[in-house]
Formats: sequence, structure tokens, C-alpha cells
Amino acid sequence: MPLPAARRAPDSAAAVLRAVLDHGPVARSSIARVTRLSAATVSGVAASLMERGLVREVPGAVGPPGIGRPHVPVDVDPDTVGVIGVHIAVPRATVALLDLRGREIARFQDPHGSRDPESVLAAVAERIAGVRRDHGRRRRILGLGLATGGWVDSLHGTVVEHPVLGWREVRAGDALARATGLPVWVDNNSRALLRAEQLLGDVAGRARQSAVLIFVGNVVDVAFSTGGVVHQGPRSAAGAVAHLPVEGCAERCACGRVGCLQAAVGERALVRRALAAGVIDRLDIHALVGAALDGRAEALDLLRERARRVGRAAALLLDLFDPEVLVVAEAGANRVPACLATLRAEVAAASSAGADVTTTIHASSFPANVLAIAGGAVALDQVYASPLI
Ligand SMILES: [Zn+2]
Repeated sequence: MPLPAARRAPDSAAAVLRAVLDHGPVARSSIARVTRLSAATVSGVAASLMERGLVREVPGAVGPPGIGRPHVPVDVDPDTVGVIGVHIAVPRATVALLDLRGREIARFQDPHGSRDPESVLAAVAERIAGVRRDHGRRRRILGLGLATGGWVDSLHGTVVEHPVLGWREVRAGDALARATGLPVWVDNNSRALLRAEQLLGDVAGRARQSAVLIFVGNVVDVAFSTGGVVHQGPRSAAGAVAHLPVEGCAERCACGRVGCLQAAVGERALVRRALAAGVIDRLDIHALVGAALDGRAEALDLLRERARRVGRAAALLLDLFDPEVLVVAEAGANRVPACLATLRAEVAAASSAGADVTTTIHASSFPANVLAIAGGAVALDQVYASPLI
């Protein structure tokens, strides 16, 4: 299993590829300026990146005028390579094929037949084989990223504990590497989404300085980064906030206590309440969000109640870390503007950090495909960190 990017020294190829991602189509001379590498180094690295199908020349794009050899700008190659992104949630697995800008080429969401790890991972491997049959001849697959909730040891590719799914010590990375023959990297959901924000997000530049991301699904967890590096912790256990006590919540948590954050805001309890109240007709968070977007007041009330609770937790995180940006990946705030406004107002009221919540608190940059991006970002992060390996 390759080492995570943060534990390797950055290389010049990584700097060049990142500059092309951020500024492409871009002239090699501009890349040299922003990376502070010599023109000869940039030229050599760009040639190697082109050979591998990561970068291509864009003759149509306008380059700076000059004499002699025309400056043909380069950009990330969207057609030649890709990564597989896998996300394992409580009810279903998502398998997607993404290009180097994180754009989806294909996506499948398959409900689990059974939740036992072998059968879930076998179904995922089968789906990946299908994607490669359909796309693998035209597009070289560089690797596979797997994201899931709970406690994930990314160094060993192990899902240490996913209590809601009932998984313990599952060596998912090895299993998928054996089944697919691809390089496989594994990480926890919120760390994966924070990397996606740093690489491809709406406020990527600021997220690379310092950031906190709170993910709210069936599982609730947090990731944080300083100096561009996502904190992993010696046990890969950073960000476990599921059982953070929140005021005013009467729900009993799976751990036996009352008032834990995950029990208060987790998706399952929310959609069950909505179903019992007749707001939706199936246990599906997207149905609830859809009802709120259609103007159903009861649906909006339920989501805004959750936004207030998430806002209280976000305020605590804001005070604790004082990050440049705090990203909330939660279905309501991601898609319903009134929910994001409620959440920001709650943070403003509960936080003492004095941050401007409008510029600091953001919804996810990937509201339409957050799960596919999570898996894909685990692999893309490695590709961008060491593109020539
Ligand atoms: Zn608990």
C-alpha cells in the first residue's frame, strides 16, 4: 500500500501539475513563474506529464505573443486518464469514474444486498470491472480511491470501525487491490472531502491554508487541516465527533447516552421522523430535500432544525480551530439556501470567534455528487501529490 501523500516530500511534477490544474490552459513560462521552477525543469516535467496523459497542449488557447517557437499553453488532459472513486455508505455503494478535474464520466449507486464486508466489496469490485469494460480501453485508470465513514486507517487501508455499518478491522484496501489489480488508497469520508475542497473546491486557495470540514450523513465526522496538510493522527482517528454532546437533544445514541451529535443530526433518525410525520413516503434524505425544495413547510422545518443543531457543533469547531474556511457537507445546507442561512445564523449566534460566517462557513462545493467526489478525491490527491510515480 503506497504511503499517503502528506508523508512524502512534494516534488516538482506535483507543483507543475497543480499549477496546470489551477491556471490551465496556461503557458509553461507562467507555470515557471508560479512554481518558481526553472523554465527547463517545467519543460521537462510537462513533457513527462504529457507522455503519461495527465497534461496536453491546447493549441487553440491564446498564449503570450513571442518570437520563435509559439507558446502553446497546456491544460489538464480530460480524456486520457481517470480514477475510480468508491464510497461505501450505510445503505449503498457508489462507484464512479472521474477525470483529473474530478468530473464524472460515469456513476453507479448500488444498494447493498447484504452489509457484510465480503459481499459489499465483491459487489463493488464487480461494478468496477463493468466500468473498466465500458471505459478502460479509451481511458487509462490510474488508481482507485475508497472513502467511507467512521474510523479509517489510511496507512493500512483498513476500516477500523464503522459502527453504523457494523464493520470492524476490514482490510478493504487489500481486498479491492486484489480484486482489481489497481493501486488502492483508502480514507475516511470527511478527510476525503476536505482534500476534494483543497484540490477542486470553490474556495480551494483558502482551504489549502487551514480548513475544517464537518460531514453529516448517517455518520457524522470532522476533518481539519493546517498548512495544507490534513491531520491524520497517529491512530488515523482524528475528527471523531459522533458522540460530542449537544444541548437540547433527547435522542438516544447507539452508544447508550442521550444527546450525542450523531444521534441528534444523523440521517437515519431524521428521515424516520419525516416518514412517521408523512412528509416523505420512503426513507431517503433526497426525498426530504426534494420536498423542502418543492416548498413543503414541514420538510423545510425538519431540515432547518437539523441545520441549527449542526450549526451549534460548527460554532464549537470554529472557536476551537479558527480556520480560514469551515465547510459543512450536509444535504440540507448543500441544496436548500434557507438551511445554509439558518446554519450560518446559528454559528454567528453560538460562536465567540468573531468570524464573518458568510465568508467562513461554506456548503460543500460538490452538492450533486459528494459521495463520488469523496472516493475520487482519495485517489486524485495521490495522483496530484506524485504524478510521475
Ligand atoms: Zn453516542
